[in-house]
Amino acid sequence: MLSLYNTLTRKKELLKPLKKSCVSLYTCGPTVYNFAHIGNLRTYVFEDILKRVLQYNGLKVKHIMNITDVGHLTSDADEGEDKMEKGATREGKTAWDIAKFYTAAFIKDLKLLNILPADKMPRATDHIKEQIALIKILERKGFAYRTSDGMYFDTGKLADYGKLAAQNFKDKKAGARVEVNKEKHMPWDFALWKFSSKGAKRQMEWKSPWGVGFPGWHIECSAMARAYLGQPFDIHCGGIDHITIHHTNEIAQSEAAYDTPLARVWMHGEFVVIGEQEKMAKSVNNFLRLDALMKNGFSPLAYRYLLLGTHYRSPLAFSFSALQAAQNALDALYDAVRDFEKPRIGCAEFEEKFKSAVDDDLNIPKALGVMWNLMKSAYPSHAKAKSLLKFDTVLGLGLARVLGRHFIIPARIRALAQAREKARLARDWEESDSLRMQLENAGYQIEDAPKGYRIKKTHS
Ligand code: AMP
Ligand code: ZN
Repeated sequence: MLSLYNTLTRKKELLKPLKKSCVSLYTCGPTVYNFAHIGNLRTYVFEDILKRVLQYNGLKVKHIMNITDVGHLTSDADEGEDKMEKGATREGKTAWDIAKFYTAAFIKDLKLLNILPADKMPRATDHIKEQIALIKILERKGFAYRTSDGMYFDTGKLADYGKLAAQNFKDKKAGARVEVNKEKHMPWDFALWKFSSKGAKRQMEWKSPWGVGFPGWHIECSAMARAYLGQPFDIHCGGIDHITIHHTNEIAQSEAAYDTPLARVWMHGEFVVIGEQEKMAKSVNNFLRLDALMKNGFSPLAYRYLLLGTHYRSPLAFSFSALQAAQNALDALYDAVRDFEKPRIGCAEFEEKFKSAVDDDLNIPKALGVMWNLMKSAYPSHAKAKSLLKFDTVLGLGLARVLGRHFIIPARIRALAQAREKARLARDWEESDSLRMQLENAGYQIEDAPKGYRIKKTHS
């Protein structure tokens, strides 16, 4: 019985998929004008855990993640430059090249973190037609109005605008937020379509019934989610910053156009913070990439392990010492399972506890605790192996690649290790050291234990 916290209703709810055994999931993807930072990646790991837990419950998942390659402006209030065009100017490339480059870099990061691929990653620029069609419906129903720089959504026409964020916009004084565009009816009205500036040709622009320009940021998700998953669909996710603007506006457009909810469950992952509750943002200097963690000698899965230790609805303060602790724990886990026998029958009591933890709004920190208790238990290794591999379908720590690998250490390495042990017992230190060096050069380490020795691979 899987229960999930729904931001919209502000409570944990039992999941009841619209179709009996298949869940439709839409996760907002990256704006591909720069690399993803480790904060962004936390959101994708949270969504990956969600998907894996759905599958653990025997459900099929139809997962769509969009790629924002146009329309996301530097200010969430629909002002400023388009992030893509800005990135292109910064790097002296075209906006299309920038999109291609950073999409590929993003997919590489997802793979390194063992994140299961979405069924489709549709690009906003490939769905301009669908977005225009949606804006036309909004215009016909009286929810859109024109200003000198674009078509805007008239939030005042919706009685429940802001319900996701539990904000009552009606009572909010106009101008509470710094007002930039005086032509907007309400400060929080948002762009559906922006016009290209007069005399300046944009790299990314399209004809529309309202003039040449480009879609607003939120409209792409409303249009693509409906195109691929239908409306309503089951679960919509993103980081917490999406609650007040992006998802609030997706809901407004989609519900105004079609008089039916966009998604039933809305889930949001908390941020990675650095230092004193400071959020990590691409515009601030504390931008850390997965690549930087790897250059500091950490494995990407150590970062994944670190993320698993904090519940997705709590902020996570990143530090290198916490990452080191995660790396040590992961290495210890790998070391232990390397010597495990082939899996046979699992340990039911631990499997039950694991399942009830993950089913309780993805309580992965608790599930990790169950895993370590299993490791410490007196069950034989073939039983632990069976349960661990099951758990790893949720945790995604790559245990299948390591488990029992002790038994497949190449014969040449075993022979070297044996020769070294012989030399050591004969107190021939020179020979034993030289053999140890040979093993190390081949990527193996010998650990002397009270009852003989153990061969360890230095890189997992
Ligand atoms: P963006 O590429 O800026 O559109 O962001 C991609 C995803 O990362 C969105 O779902 C954001 O909510 C999320 N996000 C942005 N910053 C952070 C952060 N510091 N920690 C966790 N998630 C974040
Ligand atoms: Zn979105």
